[in-house]
Amino acid sequence: MSSMMNMVNTNFVDEENIIYEEELNAAELNNTRLPESEDDVEEIYYITKQMTVKTIIHSLTPIEYPPTSKEGVAIVYHVEGWNNVEEAFTDIQYSMGKPCGQHTSTCSYLGDVTIEKKDRTCQGVKICEFANSELLEMNHESVNTDSDLQLKVNKEMSEDNIENVTFAVYLAAFKTKCRYMRDGVQCAGKPILKCLKRKDNTTTYFIGCSEWNFNEKFHRFINIKENVDLNLLRQLLDGLYGGESEEPTNDCYTILPNSSKKTLCSHPHRTGTTIKQGSIIQKTCGVKYSKIIPLDIKSCPYVILISKGIHSHPPPPPSRVPLTICSRLQELIHQANDNNSDITPTHIITGNYYTNTQ
Ligand SMILES: [Zn+2]
Ligand SMILES: [Zn+2]
Ligand SMILES: [Zn+2]
Ligand SMILES: [Zn+2]
Repeated sequence: MSSMMNMVNTNFVDEENIIYEEELNAAELNNTRLPESEDDVEEIYYITKQMTVKTIIHSLTPIEYPPTSKEGVAIVYHVEGWNNVEEAFTDIQYSMGKPCGQHTSTCSYLGDVTIEKKDRTCQGVKICEFANSELLEMNHESVNTDSDLQLKVNKEMSEDNIENVTFAVYLAAFKTKCRYMRDGVQCAGKPILKCLKRKDNTTTYFIGCSEWNFNEKFHRFINIKENVDLNLLRQLLDGLYGGESEEPTNDCYTILPNSSKKTLCSHPHRTGTTIKQGSIIQKTCGVKYSKIIPLDIKSCPYVILISKGIHSHPPPPPSRVPLTICSRLQELIHQANDNNSDITPTHIITGNYYTNTQ
């Protein structure tokens, strides 16, 4: 009856002057801003009475790089059959820092169950003081592993990066003095690239001392292992590297996880005419996380991770092997194969998300 009345009443005002209660409520949620379209209203989901998000993702496995957004992303993990529910929160490459709030609340999204809500803040990453400017200014909401920048970072982080191995050899020589003593005075010789040619025609390269003589032992001698670019090493030792432009030396792609204890980057950088190893600096972040865990996880086998805000740093490199992700995926693939169900391995691997139909 009352709805009939409403319908009749609206005929007295033009359509644009009708204010709908649902839109008013949504506008309050959006603080002061009125929603621009009806779509905006529909896309808001309540997780608790106080917490809303605009995106909900369902996942059967932990997600290494959970996406985020300004308005919030909730990842609902289906944890039935998981050995350790905490893996939803620990198999993540972002460093979440110390707890900054914890309380019991009610989760409307999971059907008004009692939950424990734990808050965290993203701790960002560590980069070199000579970081590439694109890297320095980078924000991200989700990780694009195929981007040019990400590929450069990956190359930088790979263990068998010949450039980096060469830099390490050079820096070791650059930082130490020749220990040879002549009449109580330490040798002032410079490190130079030398080679020993043997009778059998084999050649061994090493870093020796510029003051070395045939009858003097104990001058500097640094073995050169495999994986060294001898041409680059020679340029570095001769002070020719990066002499023309500043580009390669002050364009660092080093990114370290927040947990890294390194204080210096592995590159020689140039400030003016001096070679300096880059200091590692912290890049902070304001992304807020909330973990939601039902008190009775047996009867409600879901946990939720909410992230709000945009990461003000490049994605952290993988710092731990997410074993559970692999094992969970294998499990699912086996299940899918055994049951011949509609969950195909491709779906799980590429999607990791699928829409909830329950
Ligand atoms: Zn650096
Ligand atoms: Zn010497
Ligand atoms: Zn962050
Ligand atoms: Zn679901």
